[in-house]
Amino acid sequence: MGPGDNGQVTSPDVPDLSALRPRLPSPLQEAADERFTRRGVRLLLKRDDLIHPELIGNKWRKLAPNLTAAAGRPIVTFGGAYSNHLRATAAAGRLLGLPTVGVVRGQELAERPLNPSLARCVADGMRLHFVDRSTYRRKTDPETRVAILRAAGAQGAYVVPEGGSNALAVRGCRALGEELRGQADVVAIACGTGGTLAGLAAGLGPGQRALGIPVLKGGFLGDDVRGLQAEAFGGPRGDWWLDERFHFGGYARSTPELDAFAEDFEERHGVPVERLYVAKLLYGLVVLVEEGVFEAGGVVVAVVTGAPFGG
Ligand SMILES: *Cc1c(COP(=O)(O)O)cnc(C)c1O
Repeated sequence: MGPGDNGQVTSPDVPDLSALRPRLPSPLQEAADERFTRRGVRLLLKRDDLIHPELIGNKWRKLAPNLTAAAGRPIVTFGGAYSNHLRATAAAGRLLGLPTVGVVRGQELAERPLNPSLARCVADGMRLHFVDRSTYRRKTDPETRVAILRAAGAQGAYVVPEGGSNALAVRGCRALGEELRGQADVVAIACGTGGTLAGLAAGLGPGQRALGIPVLKGGFLGDDVRGLQAEAFGGPRGDWWLDERFHFGGYARSTPELDAFAEDFEERHGVPVERLYVAKLLYGLVVLVEEGVFEAGGVVVAVVTGAPFGG
């Protein structure tokens, strides 16, 4: 133990995240798009996808405080077969020299060749433990959790929940809102667990509103965001709303129309469009601006929370 640069006492076990040189605050750039300008609305892109090439976007903001809290212990976390969160956790493990264990939904996946996303996790040193879907669903029940961690050989590891959203992660995402104070009327973001939205809304300034576009079907996200804010801040924070119309059938579902939209957006703006989340967000914004939801003379910021995998 000794005093660090900032005068705080640091332990040699606490990973030094600044050594990974995150690009923070992330860049904010204009996207001149006639679908917005003809309504008198300015569209800006908050390029969280440029924070770090492997700990991308909101995954940096959510994982960083947890990696510090883990203080060198192995990390165990949970996700589906294509989880961006699992890949980011595996990459963090490799970059910081921490053992990682990924509990993956779907026992049947253990019998098949790994998909490219899980193969990347393994290449980054993550040990995978597959569980059947009904056990996975009960993974937050205390008894089931102990059993899963024991079977995964991960007792004593630091547990990061599915999608990475816990109180530390939500408080970490407050910085996203703080970086955008005074720069937007509405800040829009795609939601999985809603953790990033919960923190973003808390960080924005007076008069600014956050809009969440859920990519999962279900209608439960409002309660989840309120619950996460209660856990992280002790009560509701900020001004936010959800538009649940743009999930395209659910997580990782798409349509030819959405694919064409994403390709067209990439061509117009030269920005890679991540398909699980960011494509649905941008599609939703184009519909909403057409509906006149955003006031003329206003600024809408779309948060680019990730980048396409392997692209
Ligand atoms: C994980 C992820 C999200 C969802 O974040 P939540 O905090 O779970 O709502 C959004 N966009 C991208 C690109 C992601 O990888």
